[in-house]
Amino acid sequence: MAKRRLHAHCLCGDIKIDAKVDRLRVSVCHCDTCRRWCGGPFMAIEGAGDVTIAGIDSLGVYASSEWGERGSCKRCGSALFFRTKDASHYGLSAMACTDIDDAELSEQIFIDSKPSWYDLANDTKKLTGMEFLAQFASDEG
Ligand SMILES: [Zn+2]
Ligand SMILES: [Zn+2]
Repeated sequence: MAKRRLHAHCLCGDIKIDAKVDRLRVSVCHCDTCRRWCGGPFMAIEGAGDVTIAGIDSLGVYASSEWGERGSCKRCGSALFFRTKDASHYGLSAMACTDIDDAELSEQIFIDSKPSWYDLANDTKKLTGMEFLAQFASDEG
């Protein structure tokens, strides 16, 4: 199957990201860290590969856990991606991408961390933090 090319950029335009994906699926994370980091649930294009980042001088990378880090623009503050520290897995911000009108919102994770005062109407798979991490561990093994 031909890979889909993705283009993303931050608000000020200093950082431009290109990537490829097999399918345009968006995963929403409701965890405390994501919400505090990007000011809302983090909506990520899952499984982005061949990631290239231009404007690296403006990129700020924050280690948010022992195994993950988050990239944002130092100039305009846009939240751009979550990645594992070895960069083998990227969750690229769907909101930073252009031309993804045909994306599918496929799952919500850390649903047990979601504040009670909002709900997404999309009918998606929902995983608790524990369920999500268990899935990740079995993928790795
Ligand atoms: Zn920027
Ligand atoms: Zn999260």
